[in-house]
Amino acid sequence: MNRLWIMVALFISFVVSETPFAMAQLGGLAGPRKLEPGGAMQVILLGTGIPIPNPDRSTAATLVIAGDKAMLVDTGRGCVVRLAEARIRNVTAVLFTHYHSDHIASFGDLLVRRGAAGAEDPLPVIGPPGAKRVVDGFQMAYGLDHSYRAAHHGKYWGTRGSQAKVTEAEPGVVFDQDGLQVTMFKVNHAPINPAVGYRFDYQGKVVVVSGDTIKTEKMIEMSKDADVLVHEAMDLQTLHRIIPMIKRGRPRQAALLEDVSEYHASTIDVAEIARDAGVKKLVLTHLVPSIPPQDAAEKNFVRGMSDIYDGPIIVGRDGMTIDVE
Ligand SMILES: [Zn+2]
Ligand SMILES: [Zn+2]
Repeated sequence: MNRLWIMVALFISFVVSETPFAMAQLGGLAGPRKLEPGGAMQVILLGTGIPIPNPDRSTAATLVIAGDKAMLVDTGRGCVVRLAEARIRNVTAVLFTHYHSDHIASFGDLLVRRGAAGAEDPLPVIGPPGAKRVVDGFQMAYGLDHSYRAAHHGKYWGTRGSQAKVTEAEPGVVFDQDGLQVTMFKVNHAPINPAVGYRFDYQGKVVVVSGDTIKTEKMIEMSKDADVLVHEAMDLQTLHRIIPMIKRGRPRQAALLEDVSEYHASTIDVAEIARDAGVKKLVLTHLVPSIPPQDAAEKNFVRGMSDIYDGPIIVGRDGMTIDVE
């Protein structure tokens, strides 16, 4: 009898101790955040890294929240994990800036998440020409997975919701709903073409997400008086120091880094854009090189920027939320 009670007690303690664990395993599903119509604007950095793997940084994905809309700019590697961490179960639309792998890698996973969340309508996807090819490719690669899950889970699987509805767009207004207007504009990521950035206008507030680009006049024009500019950034001084150092022993890596340095904006360029556009808050993302999320490294990354731009400069970290005030 004693032994039975001990077993019962052990079982109860197991269930109790496992419950929080089980809830934690559900991650974002445990308590999705409710987005309210008319609510304020926020930016959540879901990925601040680059293709070189860095466990602290997923690749390009920036969420712009405006009221009950959650607009996901790019779907880089790991964005579904960061979305779950941010307790965002569904996004309103995906906006692609261009089709480098670090901006699209987790698109397939995103559709799987929608299926599991029971989304009813296909995910709207907007991007410059090329979006259809990219999305079709993902849907083909994930086709078997979708068929397994739809057959296995039946009506509980969001079959329609795990599809995408693609619009290939040219620069201009690409989304206009409930007071949120999204404008696509051309950037310069040559030789990659097309490449675009996005401007979000909502309740008199403005957020701009650069995509990948060197410094352009268009960015200054589109960011005029923006409340938040999320811009890619490269510490060119450090790259210029690293490249000659590794040239001899690792010529291939040196050549790749040299190519990379040609189609991104330096921290100094970004500071000039923010100054010239009169941006209220500058947020750096897509950090080249992919520094650790530590104060000392970040301080070094932005050196010289405050001499040019006197507003707040935030070095992005994955998961960071920026209020648009
Ligand atoms: Zn790129
Ligand atoms: Zn990139």
